[in-house]
Amino acid sequence: MITVKEASEIVLNNIQDFGTEEVSLEHSVNRILKENLTADRDFPPFNRVSMDGIAIQFESYQNGHGIFEIEGLQAAGSPQKTLKNKANCLEAMTGAVLPKNTDTVIRYEDTEIENGQAKITIEEIRFKQNAHQKVTDRKAGDILVKSGNIISPAEIGVAATIGKTHLKVAKLPKVVIISTGDELVEVSEKPLPHQIRKSNVHNLWATFLRWGIQAEKRHLNDEKEEIRKGLKECLKNFDVIVMSGGVSKGKFDFIPEILEELGVQKLFHRVRQRPGKPFWFGRSDEATVFAFPGNPASTFMCANRYFRPWLRASLGLDSFEYQYAVLEEDFEFKPDLTYFLQVKISYQKDGQISAKPIAGRGSGDLANLADADGFMELPRGQNLFKKGDAHPVIIYR
Ligand code: AMP
Ligand code: MG
Repeated sequence: MITVKEASEIVLNNIQDFGTEEVSLEHSVNRILKENLTADRDFPPFNRVSMDGIAIQFESYQNGHGIFEIEGLQAAGSPQKTLKNKANCLEAMTGAVLPKNTDTVIRYEDTEIENGQAKITIEEIRFKQNAHQKVTDRKAGDILVKSGNIISPAEIGVAATIGKTHLKVAKLPKVVIISTGDELVEVSEKPLPHQIRKSNVHNLWATFLRWGIQAEKRHLNDEKEEIRKGLKECLKNFDVIVMSGGVSKGKFDFIPEILEELGVQKLFHRVRQRPGKPFWFGRSDEATVFAFPGNPASTFMCANRYFRPWLRASLGLDSFEYQYAVLEEDFEFKPDLTYFLQVKISYQKDGQISAKPIAGRGSGDLANLADADGFMELPRGQNLFKKGDAHPVIIYR
């Protein structure tokens, strides 16, 4: 059986490239940018007034001038005006072009205006103050955002200001989520005493939605012919198949055998971890298959620990940086497995993230997932994990 480290290396060695597409600015948030965004003009494009006040020529102030006759007003959105008499001033608004023959702006707060004259009421004035100089931020042609970045609201603002109505982004994979099991019924149904409602498929769907993927949902009963037919169709029509259930040692766990029969190469089956030990991973020419065990905590943990880094790498993002948190209490775990402990996260005033163990009652304890905020990855080969020790965490909340 392979380790978590080996399993994640195999997963990351089998990424896929889904190409690129153009999407409108409105649809590009959270996508991965696949072009450089360059400045179409200088930033700022003109000497910009950055405070409401009066624009003067610094030299006349230096020559002892303290009172300036107001010649007129330079508003934002108006073409540049010219100060005619160097001893005068123009009122100038934030966002306006700095008027010709002026270089310095004094805030209204630092003036007294009476009878068409502005008197400066402060001692010190600096040359070019409150005038945001053209080109000081970036010059035309500069790269403002590099290809490969996640498009956050900050990048949306940059794209908008350089006139991009559409952006080239990484294409997302077509994903299908398949639940398996004869005991499962729909959310809308009332289960018989021996049945349960499907939950994993919805948990996974919501998980993927957060990563920008609208997956399709399917269900297959524990019946060989049905599985064969269903998987065949999905291999043809999707880039990624994410399954839950049917990969353990039960008499009706047919998934691994049928996947191999359909030409999906097994890259590993079973990982030294809890939850999620029976995880099966493989790929064919057509698709990549993540077959997670059916227990809700297993499915959810595996999606976060394996699928997400795979997706990020496939889309061309840098490797995933795990956050670390500090255990709030001692925790004991004896088996020789990497343990993904469910934890409640809190953010401390000193900047530390702390994690309180909420172990729950095993990988089938679905309700516990709603009490916790994430999984803390505790390494193999250690039984006692001490309060104050830092370990990686995957936070899903
Ligand atoms: P399996 O991996 O198929 O042996 O399933 C392990 C456990 O997870 C069983 O108790 C299943 O009933 C349960 N299970 C499997 N699939 C789902 C699902 N989609 N939603 C909720 N529970 C599931
Ligand atoms: Mg099953």
